[in-house]
Amino acid sequence: MIIILLGAPGAGKGSQAELLVKRYNIPHISTGDIFRDNFKNETPIGKLAKEYIDKGQLVPDSLTNDIVRERLSAKDVSNGFILDGYPRNINQAEALDKILKRFGWEITRVINIATPLDLLVKRISGRRVCSNCGAVYHIENKKTKHEGICDICFNPVVQREDDNEQTVLTRIKIYEEQTKDLIDYYNEKGLLSNVSGITIPQTDKEVVEILGE
Ligand code: ADP
Ligand code: ZN
Repeated sequence: MIIILLGAPGAGKGSQAELLVKRYNIPHISTGDIFRDNFKNETPIGKLAKEYIDKGQLVPDSLTNDIVRERLSAKDVSNGFILDGYPRNINQAEALDKILKRFGWEITRVINIATPLDLLVKRISGRRVCSNCGAVYHIENKKTKHEGICDICFNPVVQREDDNEQTVLTRIKIYEEQTKDLIDYYNEKGLLSNVSGITIPQTDKEVVEILGE
């Protein structure tokens, strides 16, 4: 099963991906997470990517496509995987098509999380992440048990640097200009399904109706 999650920044791709991981037992591949891991480990890729991420811009396609190609060469993807945050433009979608073709794989379904614009900014500005394990919280909707401390590993939770208002607006603009085109791209291939993206449980219910238990 190969699932692609489409949606604007803050649409909840990561939250839905976590639920899919548990249900289908396949890995969650987030290019944003891969870039952040690289930055945390101070790799050259991480340093380069951070320059773009901090401005809310896309990391160059050639680098992004390379890290995805490499990730999809690992053994743990043999039963399928969930892509979150990739592809983000037509060029990346075409690169992905080539990678999948080489492995003889086909996309099962592309799920577009159609969260209304006014909810996106609210969600992102309240988002907090664990500085150690990356667990995601929200100051209103998903509070930590103890203020400012991760429930899982007890390290401090912080705001992602690219979650400030100015950068968020740039990210949403880039989504509108580039990523939105993928809705038509996959719709024309007959692969697209839309879900509402307003609450996590309702969206999950819609996803299950599309993909099956
Ligand atoms: P969000 O979906 O909320 O924007 P992500 O963690 O997916 O968060 O992405 C954070 C940043 O990482 C993006 O703004 C971009 O700079 C970079 N990034 C992630 N995925 C890609 C991609 N497929 N292509 C280019 N840049 C990417
Ligand atoms: Zn943690």
